[in-house]
Amino acid sequence: VSEESMNGPVTERVRVRRHPERGRYEREAVYAILDEALYCHLGFAVDGQPYVIPTIHARVGDDVYVHGAAASRMLLRIGEGVPVCLTATILDGLVLARSVFSHSMNYRSVVVLGTAREVTGPEEKMAALRAVVEHVVPGRWREARHPTATELAATRVLRLPLAEASAKVRTGPPKDPASDAALDVWAGELPLTLRPGRPVAVPDLRPGIALPEYLAEYLVNGRRFPG
Ligand SMILES: Cc1cc2nc3c(=O)[nH]c(=O)nc-3n(C[C@H](O)[C@H](O)[C@H](O)COP(=O)(O)OP(=O)(O)OC[C@H]3O[C@@H](n4cnc5c(N)ncnc54)[C@H](O)[C@@H]3O)c2cc1C
Repeated sequence: VSEESMNGPVTERVRVRRHPERGRYEREAVYAILDEALYCHLGFAVDGQPYVIPTIHARVGDDVYVHGAAASRMLLRIGEGVPVCLTATILDGLVLARSVFSHSMNYRSVVVLGTAREVTGPEEKMAALRAVVEHVVPGRWREARHPTATELAATRVLRLPLAEASAKVRTGPPKDPASDAALDVWAGELPLTLRPGRPVAVPDLRPGIALPEYLAEYLVNGRRFPG
């Protein structure tokens, strides 16, 4: 495990304490999880009350962008520069130990601490929106209608630098104490994956529009759409 974080030594704030061997701080580890997770949760406090709001994100280089309605309280507050915690989680499986105590989950997760800023430059704003769309459905930006000036004005975009971040990864079987191995209890892993279903076209789709290639081959967790 590297002890170098994104831009230098691991800070105490993002050091994984429990099961420190599961902590990862290298760029590649953090970025791979952020890129695979389709959405994240943003935590921030307003007058001492924490809120944790699910939202879509996209990583571009060493920044993460989030977007939403200009009227959204979450984006308004965060854009004012309040400290935020962004968390993304990919669930890989259930871990069933012989004892209840040792049950667990296999996962890859990321925590980013920092301060976001509103993106006001039109070019960066458009690039961020493109990144969000392409993060979720690669290939979609090319085809869908791009935002108008009115739609852009109704959308707020924030940039969060990835300076302080940690990843935590659990893999493998349950860790039962040796004394439990003699129990007549099934133990092991149940892998779980996010998988796309069959696309459903809008009822008023104009005739002759084929299912786009990027949907027919949509990949989630490296798996190909089954059909
Ligand atoms: C799907 C899932 C289910 C979990 N279920 C449980 C549960 O039921 N009970 C439980 O105690 N723990 C659970 N965890 C683990 C939990 O996320 C924490 O890692 C754990 O509570 C120990 O935190 P800590 O005391 O080491 O760190 P804390 O002191 O809480 O955090 C210190 C720093 O460590 C880093 N960090 C901590 N956890 C993570 C993480 N998961 N990913 C990335 N960075 C992290 C952050 O930068 C954080 O600022 C689960 C994790 C996942 C992804």
